[in-house]
Amino acid sequence: MAFPFEPAITAPRATRVQALGRLAVRLWDQALQPICLNCRTGPESNHGLCEKCLQLISLNATCCEICARPLTQNLVCGQCQKIPPFFDRALTPLLYVDPVDRFLCGLKYREQFSFARFAAGVMTNHALKTGQKAPDMICPVPMTSKTLRKRGFNQSAFIGQLIAWQLGIPMSSNLILKTRDTAHQSDLKAKERQNNLKGAFECKRQVRGRHIVIVDDVLTTGATANEISKTLKKYGASRVDIWACARTV
Ligand SMILES: [Zn+2]
Ligand SMILES: [Zn+2]
Repeated sequence: MAFPFEPAITAPRATRVQALGRLAVRLWDQALQPICLNCRTGPESNHGLCEKCLQLISLNATCCEICARPLTQNLVCGQCQKIPPFFDRALTPLLYVDPVDRFLCGLKYREQFSFARFAAGVMTNHALKTGQKAPDMICPVPMTSKTLRKRGFNQSAFIGQLIAWQLGIPMSSNLILKTRDTAHQSDLKAKERQNNLKGAFECKRQVRGRHIVIVDDVLTTGATANEISKTLKKYGASRVDIWACARTV
């Protein structure tokens, strides 16, 4: 039986030096704790964002089962039924609206490379959650050497490399080359769009029977993804999927 008046056990009073030492350790721990890439105040919870900022992300929850175009329910859209694309499936977990558009523009135009970690984290998570079959190889959407020299980096290659490391899949940055510059698809009329990308991509070797995932930051018209897929299928790929962080609405 416990003695009723047993005094509570208390820690010995810290000396002033010990207290200062403990405070320094606490401040150091706080300084090292990753903070949210968006608000820069909250502690990181997942994919570089805090709990609050994760709630701001719009999911591409219901979309076309082939091209990932946002729809009110999961089915194959009219466009894909009429003219099926060369790729087998596009996977785009998010919608290209605020704040995701800001994140991806920051990565592309303002060298905010941390957002590649956000994109790769979201994409890897989505691929695992939806039970995607692991591809034989990951390839980023290529840039022409002229654009690459001008910008200094390929944001899709950054994202692709992180996904490849997380999933343990090889990435090839030189399987598909972009051999000439092309105009923005959105600036062109329907007829011009068809010719704009024709022959702009080259596959460097045969990929017979291979399952390849093309990684991009944003999926817009899907024309670039389709042209690359057409080239890969011509070189023997058995399956081509497109993984992009966000889909335009
Ligand atoms: Zn935040
Ligand atoms: Zn579709």
